[in-house]
Amino acid sequence: GSRCGSALLFIDLDRFKRVNKSFGHITGNKLLACAAQRILSVVRAADVITRRSGDEFLVLLDDVGSPRRAAGMSRRILHELSLPFSVDGVTFHISASIGVLPGVEGFDTDAEVLRNAEIAMYRAKERGGNNFKIYSPALHRHELESFALEADLRLALERDALELAYQPIVNLGSGRVAGYEALLRWTHPVLGPVSPARFVPVAEATGLIVPVGDWVLGAACRQIAHWQDSVLGNGCYVSVNISARQLTHRHFLEGFARSVEHHGVKPERLRVEITESVLMEDAAKARTRLLKLKEMGVRILMDDFGTGYSSLSYLLSFPIDVIKIDRSFIRDLGSGSGRSRLVESIMHLAESIELETVAEGVETQAQLQRLMELGCGYCQGYLFSQPLAPGAVETAAAGASPACIAAG
Ligand code: C2E
Ligand code: MG
Ligand code: MG
Repeated sequence: GSRCGSALLFIDLDRFKRVNKSFGHITGNKLLACAAQRILSVVRAADVITRRSGDEFLVLLDDVGSPRRAAGMSRRILHELSLPFSVDGVTFHISASIGVLPGVEGFDTDAEVLRNAEIAMYRAKERGGNNFKIYSPALHRHELESFALEADLRLALERDALELAYQPIVNLGSGRVAGYEALLRWTHPVLGPVSPARFVPVAEATGLIVPVGDWVLGAACRQIAHWQDSVLGNGCYVSVNISARQLTHRHFLEGFARSVEHHGVKPERLRVEITESVLMEDAAKARTRLLKLKEMGVRILMDDFGTGYSSLSYLLSFPIDVIKIDRSFIRDLGSGSGRSRLVESIMHLAESIELETVAEGVETQAQLQRLMELGCGYCQGYLFSQPLAPGAVETAAAGASPACIAAG
């Protein structure tokens, strides 16, 4: 492998502020000292460890040899930190994000070294924490692009240049459209259409998702009001994606209620899709918020099910009505693989706790066939329809909808 000289590890503990908030700074500091001990237990005598600030540590791995070995050290540190801590009679579970900068000697200034290691650390954090990421020029470029993208998205929001597309969700029992998922669309003036899979994580990382999410809710409610007696006439709903950061924001419920009331939307016409990442943010707060939405009469969907924790206990403790099985599982359906069998168990699980199931990303007749055999209630995917502009939804709803044809 390649050689790299020394490497800098930029270690940031995940969500550590909550420890201080809940248990006070004295306990927090003791926990930090214990974490430092764990890090020390991994590194070698020649390595240097310093506390940078708050919950950040720097480790200089002296002449570590190769990026692979620096990665190995990071893995061991993450493992050590993942073991429970006992401080003041309380058991803590923590995790960290580590940015790895190999080849420290190759950079001109300390500031550059530190910044690059930090960029890598942020990438590790963006991927959900408990993770390490090795710095590379490509990663740096990605970071600069994200920065520009964020600024442009802010402008698009100010200029009302965002749009929503609507993808039908089909009831397999009746072959009819049950509802539509609202999906954000942004056409960048230079880059053209940018996928929300690219810009939503950027907006989440910077908090811009809060005003963007507000806009989405407002636009969806306006559309629901407009469609209440036509497109949505037969009890159809519109499903809106809500980010964890947005859900736990202090003004979320007010904003939500305002959008609904302002447009005179019946709550049963609106659904909310959340992902398992709400648990990473602030599970207790998220739960209270969801209970409030449910009280209003809004149904709650767990999106991308199967990709995160997927634990039974939170499905039971959160007010979830519907689970949406992630498209990566649907892709493997009928392949006889372990993942394919997992879809079957998810379906059984959902049935036994009386949750509705939606399969997303259904692209082939074979997948549809298998889902029907498994008793899946609802499907969404290119087999039925792409996400559509509002005008196209109206046309489809007025004539024979493509969904009815595909489902037979
Ligand atoms: P998601 O909520 O899981 O949305 C489903 C994604 O699957 C959409 O991608 C949709 O266009 C795509 N899709 C639908 N049918 C098929 C199919 O048959 N095959 C394949 N391969 N893909 C299919 P899209 O529109 O690019 O959105 C990506 C993600 O961005 C969404 O995943 C969601 O997490 C996020 N997102 C989109 N709009 C919003 C929004 O308004 N707010 C928030 N917070 N996130 C959003
Ligand atoms: Mg969704
Ligand atoms: Mg999904």
